[in-house]
Amino acid sequence: MGYGKKKDHGRCFVHLVNFRFFLWKGKETTMATKNQTILISGASIAGPTLAYWLKRYGFTPTVVERSPVLRAGGFPIDVRNEAVEIAKRMGIWSDLQQKSTTLDELSFMDARNRRISGINILTLRKMLDLDRTWAEILRGDLAETLYEATKNEVEYLFGDSIQAMAQDDDGVDVTFASGGTRHFDLVAGADGVHSNTRQLVFGDEAPFEWYCGYQVAVFTTTDNYLRLDHTNMLIYGVPGKQVMIRSSRDNKELGACFMFKQPTKLHYDRSDEEQQKQLLADVYADQAWEIPTLLEKMRAASDLYFDPVSQIRMESWSQGRVVLLGDAAHCPSLLTGQGSTLAMMGAYILAGELQATSGDHRQAFQQYEQAFRPVISKEQKKLKSGGDFLVPATKLGLWARNHLGPVLAPFILVPGGIWNRLFPQPSLVKNSVSFSEKEA
Ligand SMILES: Cc1cc2nc3c(=O)[nH]c(=O)nc-3n(C[C@H](O)[C@H](O)[C@H](O)COP(=O)(O)OP(=O)(O)OC[C@H]3O[C@@H](n4cnc5c(N)ncnc54)[C@H](O)[C@@H]3O)c2cc1C
Repeated sequence: MGYGKKKDHGRCFVHLVNFRFFLWKGKETTMATKNQTILISGASIAGPTLAYWLKRYGFTPTVVERSPVLRAGGFPIDVRNEAVEIAKRMGIWSDLQQKSTTLDELSFMDARNRRISGINILTLRKMLDLDRTWAEILRGDLAETLYEATKNEVEYLFGDSIQAMAQDDDGVDVTFASGGTRHFDLVAGADGVHSNTRQLVFGDEAPFEWYCGYQVAVFTTTDNYLRLDHTNMLIYGVPGKQVMIRSSRDNKELGACFMFKQPTKLHYDRSDEEQQKQLLADVYADQAWEIPTLLEKMRAASDLYFDPVSQIRMESWSQGRVVLLGDAAHCPSLLTGQGSTLAMMGAYILAGELQATSGDHRQAFQQYEQAFRPVISKEQKKLKSGGDFLVPATKLGLWARNHLGPVLAPFILVPGGIWNRLFPQPSLVKNSVSFSEKEA
């Protein structure tokens, strides 16, 4: 089966044709000859995945993470198809399955907290055999698993950040916020949608941000006052404003996600959490259901995530010896549900190209883009269906989502499930990292 061709049934899975993976255990494969030392900024999904594969290919990665400790919990994210295969190759897939959030049902609620309808995810999972190619997991749990898989062999610098970089033919001199300076051969920015590395090398975020017209807020309450079970997610909304809640952390807390249409981007101080809380409270003032209680509980939340829903679109992901990956390079936005999968894929492909070119960063960065950019361009176009489903804009749209959603669920809820395969282009380097399709 050639690249880019889709099969008409779901009994196929991604197969990575670089058999060097199998050869590696205990023995190094081709040793990198150039550009051995690589600093990676960001220890979430893309960063540790890159560190893992670089280490495996004989490079010496160092990861710098701004947060003083690994950030736990967070919102549930999906690991799908190609990322599942990568996780298997890393030996972490069974861990991820165990930590999976096992969502069984979505319930659409009315203002009086009565269930309008629901989508039985458990049945869908079984019917479509999704557990083989899909796991939903808290972002922090995925990050922790990736960190655990690398921490013994990779140097991690927590509570620090790149403050300045100066690159020349020999490498990159990096000054850290903590004051020290170190020399690396290459730098990889995996520091998220508001990437510090991108800011330092490519400049302001504004020209690269593609605002999608929504604002999202996620936070955790300190108790599970609704006694929700972790298997159920409740969804309530009015046109243009939605709220999703589910239990979190062993049913001790509630995770709440507010998402609303916001045609023009809000302007606020990203470091001022109180201002953000007030903005959210204002937008949802006078709304029914559990919203007043949730907003009250938000005041005590210590983990508010409040951000525009945006994509990052760049013409090039590298400049000299500095390369970007994950959300820093190509955030697809949460509307696609593919950010983590793409972050892992990009890391895997980038490491593979560096290995295949024996560390020649010019060739490797070019091939990484050539192989992966078509996937990103395609995924970034899938905004509308995600937005329409998550935040219907009209009464009719809301009615249709709530009443027809359960029937249409296999077609709209799992667009990234068995049908949505990503198919990077083959690499220019023969037998380099690439994906192809094979019978299970
Ligand atoms: C509400 C929400 C729901 C989502 N749902 C899904 C979903 O269902 N499915 C899905 O696949 N994706 C989802 N995503 C997207 C997903 O979380 C991201 O695509 C994914 O986390 C990207 O990984 P990353 O490693 O590139 O960046 P991030 O996860 O953003 O990590 C960046 C890391 O860099 C660190 N950092 C930041 N600045 C610096 C600095 N100056 N120095 C050092 N380190 C720094 C951060 O602390 C962080 O650890 C969702 C996102 C949000 C916000």
